[in-house]
Formats: sequence, structure tokens, C-alpha cells
Amino acid sequence: MSRRRRPPPLDVLTYPLAGLLAEAPGSQRSYRIAAVVIPLDEPLELAEPIEGTLRVARTNRGVLVDGRLRASLRELCSRCLAEIEVPLDLVISEEVLPSVDILTGLPIDATAEPDVERLTSAHELDFGRLVRAAIALAEPIAPLCRPDCPGLCPICGALAVAGHGHVEEAVDPRLAPLLGWHPVDAEPPSDYTPPHRPVPARRRR
Ligand SMILES: [Zn+2]
Ligand SMILES: [Zn+2]
Repeated sequence: MSRRRRPPPLDVLTYPLAGLLAEAPGSQRSYRIAAVVIPLDEPLELAEPIEGTLRVARTNRGVLVDGRLRASLRELCSRCLAEIEVPLDLVISEEVLPSVDILTGLPIDATAEPDVERLTSAHELDFGRLVRAAIALAEPIAPLCRPDCPGLCPICGALAVAGHGHVEEAVDPRLAPLLGWHPVDAEPPSDYTPPHRPVPARRRR
């Protein structure tokens, strides 16, 4: 007799809520989210597993999702390109509506509210989708390894710490007079307006 195969594990961060949907508004479930790793949309990448709590409360229309999570992204410092971890505190608060009526089992017409989050047809909360969206929103535009990161030297590419510099290369003395010379544009720029010159008023005869 072969041992029965276990069903594949549920997707992490997917929560079956049929039981909660059958309860009265106000009923709640709490979940601990510990050491959860989910794939993110490129190029985002978790540096540490996600930790936090999720509370789901039954409303008269669906459920109210309240997640408090701590995540950490692997990023590059936008100035010096060093690899850094960017910690994120995520607060996810969202009403999620059923896509199938819990009593009748019939699909619910979602066209009236196309933008609202929905449970799956099996009354599951796909919390991972909400987490991915919250992480993408919270990602800093220009992460820094430290607030005063000096960035890279444009000449040699090394970290431009205080005191870093390059001695100007010596100029051939025969070319020295050219140092202060700037070519004059032959044509004025198209948005150039000549300075106003007052026209002398004609004398009356
Ligand atoms: Zn940096
Ligand atoms: Zn340099």
C-alpha cells in the first residue's frame, strides 16, 4: 500500500477564508508571518525574509485586511553603487471582497467595482499580491548606503571621500593663453532677444 501523497502546500501568504466568511461581521483571524520569502517583480529582491502580523476581520461585504510587515530589499546605493539592504515597514490596509457568494456558490458580478481586491473563487486571500504591491510602492527611488554618501569620483571612480582629489595636469606653457579662451557662438541662440534699446523720441518741429 503506497502512502497517500500529501497535497502540495498552499502558496505562502495565501489564506483560506471560507470559515471566516461564514461567520458574523466583526469576526477575526490573526496570523503570524514569520520568515516568509516570496519572489518579487524584477528587479526587486528581498534581502531578508518578511516578518509581521496579519489580521483579517469579517465585514458585511467581505473582509478587512490589516497587515503590519517588516521587509528588507537588496538594493544598490544610488551614489556609490555599494550593495545595501533597505529596510521597509509596510502597513497594508485593504477591504477585499469575495468573488463567489459564500452561501450560493455563484460568481459575484465584479463589473460594478472593477478595481477592488477580490478573494479567489476558492475564498482564499492572496495576501502575497498585496505584499508585492506594497513593497513596490515603498521602494525608495534613490536608496543611499548612508545619508552623506559622497558618491564616486567622476575622474577615477573611487569613493569620493573627503580629501579625495586629483592634481590638475600641467598645461603646456605655449597653450596657457588658451586657458581663458571661449569660442563665441556665431549665431545667437534661437530664444535670444536683443536688449531693449530706447529709441529717441522725434523732436517736434
Ligand atoms: Zn553609497
Ligand atoms: Zn578620483
